[in-house]
Amino acid sequence: MKRKLTLNKVKVLRQKEIAPGVFVLSFLRPWDFSAGQVLGIGAHATDEARLYSIASGELDDEVDILYNINPEGKLTPWLAKVVTGDSIWVSEPFGSFTGSGEPAWWIASGTGIAPFRAMFRTGLTAGKKLIHGGRDLSSFYFSDDFTEVLKDNYVRCCSRETAAGIYSGRITHYLSGLNELPAGEKYYLCGSAEMVVEVRDILIAKGVPFDNIISEIYF
Ligand SMILES: Cc1cc2nc3c(=O)[nH]c(=O)nc-3n(C[C@H](O)[C@H](O)[C@H](O)COP(=O)(O)OP(=O)(O)OC[C@H]3O[C@@H](n4cnc5c(N)ncnc54)[C@H](O)[C@@H]3O)c2cc1C
Repeated sequence: MKRKLTLNKVKVLRQKEIAPGVFVLSFLRPWDFSAGQVLGIGAHATDEARLYSIASGELDDEVDILYNINPEGKLTPWLAKVVTGDSIWVSEPFGSFTGSGEPAWWIASGTGIAPFRAMFRTGLTAGKKLIHGGRDLSSFYFSDDFTEVLKDNYVRCCSRETAAGIYSGRITHYLSGLNELPAGEKYYLCGSAEMVVEVRDILIAKGVPFDNIISEIYF
């Protein structure tokens, strides 16, 4: 998605490829933000920014961005080549897909895990269930951290590969197979439009009130 935002220059601290074509880019945190918010990134001051969720915690010194390369895209093939000391242009954070300390379900596909990593690192883990869907076993970014803290409340759904301890199938299949979903809890959905729409329908069919479903669609 492209947006006209005011962009300011920041220096890249580091960039790491954490899975094939998937990167975590970090820079020093220049502002405060709420876990779950997004920012715009451009290659130049006047670019139409693409939006990215902040994937680090509110008190972390560094801002992490988790993204995958879109080979046909304008920004991400360029972004994947930046190295320590290079400049990128970023907006201030904004957005209302923000976490809270209340019990909730965090449901993500692919890089849609990013805002939940921010909420996780901010310490909003009490009463949370995290469901992450990915195509292959390398898609479960930050899984060591999530496993250690969330234990059985962290479910990985893998659609193309199988492994012990990982649900074999898509998120939608996993959720459809659950007998009961707590209707009073909030459900945060983040990722592709396809996943968000399908999951929303399943939740509503299982009795979750529409108002308890909060979505962030990546497009
Ligand atoms: C709220 C929000 C949060 C997001 N957070 C994340 C995140 O944390 N991580 C993440 O990886 N992504 C995130 N995204 C997606 C991200 O903003 C970008 O869309 C994505 O990274 C692709 O950017 P790009 O510049 O490489 O591709 P783009 O240049 O935007 O291209 C995307 C697609 O559009 C097509 N396209 C581009 N220009 C044209 C044109 N002129 N005519 C026809 N087709 C065209 C391209 O072929 C390509 O397939 C988020 C999106 C939103 C809305």
